[in-house]
Amino acid sequence: MPQTPAPLSPVPICDSWFSTQKISDRLYLVTEPHYYWFNRANLWLIKGQKQDLLIDTGLGVSSLRQYIASLIDKPLLAIASHIHFDHAGGMHEFDRRAIHAAEASALRTGDDYEALCKPEQGWVRQEDFHCLPHAGFTVEQYTLHGTEPTDILNEGDVLDLGDRAFEVMHLPGHSPGCIALYDPQAKELFSGDVVYDGELLDQLHCSHVPTYVSTFERLQKLPVEAVYPGHYTVFGRERYHQILDEYLAAKRQPGCPSELRQIRMQSA
Ligand SMILES: [Zn+2]
Ligand SMILES: [Zn+2]
Repeated sequence: MPQTPAPLSPVPICDSWFSTQKISDRLYLVTEPHYYWFNRANLWLIKGQKQDLLIDTGLGVSSLRQYIASLIDKPLLAIASHIHFDHAGGMHEFDRRAIHAAEASALRTGDDYEALCKPEQGWVRQEDFHCLPHAGFTVEQYTLHGTEPTDILNEGDVLDLGDRAFEVMHLPGHSPGCIALYDPQAKELFSGDVVYDGELLDQLHCSHVPTYVSTFERLQKLPVEAVYPGHYTVFGRERYHQILDEYLAAKRQPGCPSELRQIRMQSA
């Protein structure tokens, strides 16, 4: 007699969606541990003298604002390193919200396509949620909440926290509005999805390999001691240069625009 398959056990609801690691008195790392590790973003809370910065806001499926409330005692600026759903999902919750000019309209309109969360793009999958952020959660309802940015970031802007300051670097390639925040005193780079120690994604909707190559050529010249990336682990100067060099060796074929520029400059 054929056996009836056992019913699938329901996915449980999480007790707490987020997790925090205190790196120092001035730096906290918040993550979403019940979400698939490959896409799980690092959300960095930087405590300053005059204001605090939150770099990236996660998926937006549970209240990050409530979760970090006890850590916030100054004005807070929430920054999306870029528009992708794993970084900009929670932006709508915050009073002050910043993104690069190139992706401001996508945040304003809640552009699911640019955020990579249209179901047919295949990035937001039910099986990636190992427990549910709340009862009844399904990925079919998932969307980027449109919200007007209160601050538009551009290359060279300085974010002054009182005791330290960050320069905004516009570093497109992975997406058109990718930024990193650079502290030139400490030589620390909060790099979003521009550079991390894992598979770099340059074939997404709106990615552009020659632009990514130019971004990495620029980063090769930047003095960096520590990288706090948008995914995976923190790393230092040596690994930083290895990642840049390996990518450039793989992608910078003779004839690509950056090479041609150099050849033209040499022959001029
Ligand atoms: Zn991304
Ligand atoms: Zn990402």
